[in-house]
Amino acid sequence: MQIDVIGSGSAFATQANTSAMMVTENDQCWLIDCGPTIPRALWQRALPVNTVDVIYFTHIHPDHCAGLAALLNQWNSFGRDKPLTIICQPEQQEMLESLVTLAVWPKMALCFELHWCPTLPSMHWGAWTIQTAPTRHEVSNLAIRISSGDRTLFYSGDGRPTAESIALMENADIAFQECAAFAALPDDDSHGDLPQCAQLSNTLNLAHLCVYHCWDEYIDDIKNFCAAQPCLHVSQDGLTLDLTRDITPQLERQLG
Ligand SMILES: [Zn+2]
Repeated sequence: MQIDVIGSGSAFATQANTSAMMVTENDQCWLIDCGPTIPRALWQRALPVNTVDVIYFTHIHPDHCAGLAALLNQWNSFGRDKPLTIICQPEQQEMLESLVTLAVWPKMALCFELHWCPTLPSMHWGAWTIQTAPTRHEVSNLAIRISSGDRTLFYSGDGRPTAESIALMENADIAFQECAAFAALPDDDSHGDLPQCAQLSNTLNLAHLCVYHCWDEYIDDIKNFCAAQPCLHVSQDGLTLDLTRDITPQLERQLG
């Protein structure tokens, strides 16, 4: 399983792309979330239009889905001919469908098949076992755990960890957790914070916890703190990891 951090920034980040990740194994490729700056970040990679099989949406805040119209428009314009599956929460599908409509308006037709699948607590896709669980967020957000063989990735989407999402982080080879703030936020807040992430890193004995989606004003403080923590990292755009190999040197080489 290989991951490519397409974006690591918060909703209004001035430098980083909005948060999204591509997960690939053999010829199977998932895009997790698609905020407004994600299409261009994908185009910069010059990927064939048939590369992505599935787009998984953690939730539909604009910084996680507003790029869908532009991305589908590009795939439609350049002749994608492979079916696409979009996995989302059923109550959020209608809003995403409006972005699909915008992608092809006024023609009203994609040149490839589009399949909608509801997010389930447990799913299988090829060799992957996928589990999802809610975080605490302003809109319903489902964190995702992807396991292939003995390798496991956790990605929170947005939101403060819950008992259910923390259970999905356990024993992950690498976990990505939204961490908006440097200082502790109230327990009933809808975002993660660094003190809680540091505590989770310790109590769960996580090999690697990458925080992301940090608000711009806190990034320097969060980086300084994480620099002294061997298991805590700040994710960044363009980080690529091969989970079938030792992750530690890959992180050291790319994040310093
Ligand atoms: Zn959000």
